[in-house]
Amino acid sequence: MAAARSMRTTLTAMTESGFKRAIDPLMGRNMQAETASTYQCRFCGERLKHTFVDLGMSPLCQTHIDSSQLNDYEPFYPLLGFVCARCFLVQLPEHVAPKAIFEEYAYFSSYSDSWLNHAKRYVETISGRLGLNSTSFAVELASNDGYLLQYFQARRIPVLGVEPAKNVAQVAIQRGIPSVSEFFGRKLAHKLTQEGRQADLLLGNNVLAHVPDINDFVGGMKILLKEHGVITMEFPHLVRLVEDNQFDTIYHEHFSYLSFTTVEQVFLAQGLKLFDVDELAAHGGSLRIYGCHVEDASKPISQSVSGLKVREAAWGIAKLERYQAFRENIQATKRNILEFLIEAKNKGKSIAGYGAPGKGNTLLNYCGIRTDFLDYTVDRNPYKQGKYTPGTRIPICPPERIRETKPDFLFILPWNLKDEVIKQNSFIRDWGGKFVVPIPRVSGYD
Ligand SMILES: [Zn+2]
Repeated sequence: MAAARSMRTTLTAMTESGFKRAIDPLMGRNMQAETASTYQCRFCGERLKHTFVDLGMSPLCQTHIDSSQLNDYEPFYPLLGFVCARCFLVQLPEHVAPKAIFEEYAYFSSYSDSWLNHAKRYVETISGRLGLNSTSFAVELASNDGYLLQYFQARRIPVLGVEPAKNVAQVAIQRGIPSVSEFFGRKLAHKLTQEGRQADLLLGNNVLAHVPDINDFVGGMKILLKEHGVITMEFPHLVRLVEDNQFDTIYHEHFSYLSFTTVEQVFLAQGLKLFDVDELAAHGGSLRIYGCHVEDASKPISQSVSGLKVREAAWGIAKLERYQAFRENIQATKRNILEFLIEAKNKGKSIAGYGAPGKGNTLLNYCGIRTDFLDYTVDRNPYKQGKYTPGTRIPICPPERIRETKPDFLFILPWNLKDEVIKQNSFIRDWGGKFVVPIPRVSGYD
């Protein structure tokens, strides 16, 4: 005890004398990262020195393993996030080229009922608000399998989808939704503009966070947008991520973690202004921003914009301490999840997972949850069935497996869809099964 105290005293003294970074063993690789990073902010170019989160090593979240690969190794990359001290963009360095990640992607939006409803409501609202009709043109960036554009088509509004994942874009094309399978940026925007295909509405849901070159992406929108056109983008709100311990939404495919304040700067740098914002419940708390050309005087800036900026400032969006406090909360969340799982297994209970989403893989890998805790997980997406979760290698089964094995607990990995999952699987109550949701803190539902 005395030795520990003396060690601590020595370390404190060293800290005060300025040697902390080089020798403090208690800070581990976080401090090393703060000194060793040569990464630059993808928006403003500032060197990244401040760790936001360190979730250890993790594989790419959509690289599901099939049975023929079970004896192979998997590449793991550091899941280390930074906050920029100049613009406060929270970000992960790019370890893998987006081409390798997104060209074949296993996420099909149409497999989630609540996401489809969300898309349908959006199309109704925005079509009315902007007065879109058969002479308008709506372009969606990361249009996935056409899950959203189908609702514009039903209203006879012409559309184009841009979806880099070829296998996913193919599904949209087969459904009759015009789609281009390319990465979006200034180059593609110029090409479409030259073809006379500028957009009255340019939308993107959950794509802004997934682009490594955010300046080229937003610069492309500036080019593709008509003079009085409107951009809407949805993304998870950084404030909700921190407040609700949503550390599992941090994964390699998700390069940026966005606040309104930072996104406004990113748009302004490309000659676009944000004139309105909605706060949504989607994905654990998202923002929907409305943008237009800075030259467009027809769209006054709403009070929601100033209100949200004031609240973000009060929360501490421009204070580094606010970000650094997140690390301890994540570790506490991990301990709580493991406590629940260990106790359940000690009592001889069986636990099955529900879902194999990207966020599930961060949670499983960071917490070290494998088949020692979860017998298997299920997913409605046939593309994932018969495969194994990356890194943790938990078998992914069709949902029917739940009725066959009657687990005591169903551990819901896509916690943002918990209401939908609980409703669809209410039959587990027939044998006394219970639902467990890990985030924001592990909770049980009868
Ligand atoms: Zn920056």
